[in-house]
Amino acid sequence: MINNKKPSVLGLKRSFGFGDRLGLATPGHMDSIAGKPFSGIFAQQSIRELNRTNRQPSDVINAAINAVEQEGWVQPWGADADHLQNREDVFRMANVGYTFYTIDPSNYVNNTADLLSPDVLQDIYQKLISQNKLESSDLLERYLGVSYQIADSINLTFDDRTVLLKAIFKYGNALKYAKKMYNWICEACHNNPYEVEISVDETDTPTTPLEHLFIGLELKRMGVKVVSLAPRFIGAFEKGIDYKGNISEFEKQYIQHAAIAKYCGPYKISIHSGSDKFSIYPIIGRISGEQIHVKTAGTSYLEALRVICITDILLFREVVTYCRSRFNKDKKSYHISAELNHIPERVEDHDLEDWYLSNESGRQILHVTFGSVLVGGKSSDGKPFKDLIISNLLKNDQLYREVLQKHLGKHIDLLLSETNS
Ligand SMILES: [Zn+2]
Repeated sequence: MINNKKPSVLGLKRSFGFGDRLGLATPGHMDSIAGKPFSGIFAQQSIRELNRTNRQPSDVINAAINAVEQEGWVQPWGADADHLQNREDVFRMANVGYTFYTIDPSNYVNNTADLLSPDVLQDIYQKLISQNKLESSDLLERYLGVSYQIADSINLTFDDRTVLLKAIFKYGNALKYAKKMYNWICEACHNNPYEVEISVDETDTPTTPLEHLFIGLELKRMGVKVVSLAPRFIGAFEKGIDYKGNISEFEKQYIQHAAIAKYCGPYKISIHSGSDKFSIYPIIGRISGEQIHVKTAGTSYLEALRVICITDILLFREVVTYCRSRFNKDKKSYHISAELNHIPERVEDHDLEDWYLSNESGRQILHVTFGSVLVGGKSSDGKPFKDLIISNLLKNDQLYREVLQKHLGKHIDLLLSETNS
């Protein structure tokens, strides 16, 4: 039998990322994919999440390894060093054996491209070249006017100079940085197997199919081999709730994104902020076929809070009160629609689960405050919430497993609902 106690690479087949901020969710995550054509990434954490939860890269991977050993899990599984932005963090994650590296060059993405006139764009393009911010100085000549037969019925052409200049301005420097990061990953992992994702999901404007094509072609040209790519899709992928936007428009663009991923890679499309995007999962699953990766994290934390709500309503109420006090501050780094006044201040015990774990605003109030709750948040008698939540989950491990299986199993089932698997 293969030794799957350690994480490994998963390749181009369907995979699902299960972020676990408390380190106790893997058994429930396993239950949700057992027997399904999905591989699990049981360890998945970004540096930002590590900081917000006061954990080390090894804590995350060890929590998953322990669960794998205890449960006797024999399928391959992965470990995602999510949203990496610099060299130091690449090595930090590689040192403890992560297998999946997500390059996040978003600090180098220029979000103002859409606002600029053709003349200004032309000037900026010359500047980018003279400042050596592009990986190649002939991007305009290389792509302008060129057509690509992406699929039988999809032909994309860089026929508009301004549109191409925008793509270069928006992503050119980020691509150069992504190549740098890719080289660091190769160096840090040297003989160990690894796979790489590029994520541009955290940008202000959507990645158009033509921009995706530009990114995909450039990655290929630069020799940056990715297993998946996370575009920023149209509509809103807010944390912890369903997709917001026009579903048929989403589908139209998704067909192109998936075809571009096949053409330029093949690589998988990666769906970030994948928690609870139930209305589009059947579409994503059908169009992607096997080449799909989905990342979730917040939703497993919310299911942990559901266990608290069911088993210790007083603690849950204290957590809720604390989250409300933190919300306006903590929401700042997120794109969410929730406001405190969407939820009444006084809620009866038996309505708390509905208001805070079904209602979208309630979910987001609990979601964005996770870092505060887990680091520094205390109950009225001075005990850290983190300790209280963990000891509750250990006591109610079966229930935690069941709610995770139900909730994440629903994600998996919907992704497969319009496929033949
Ligand atoms: Zn992301």
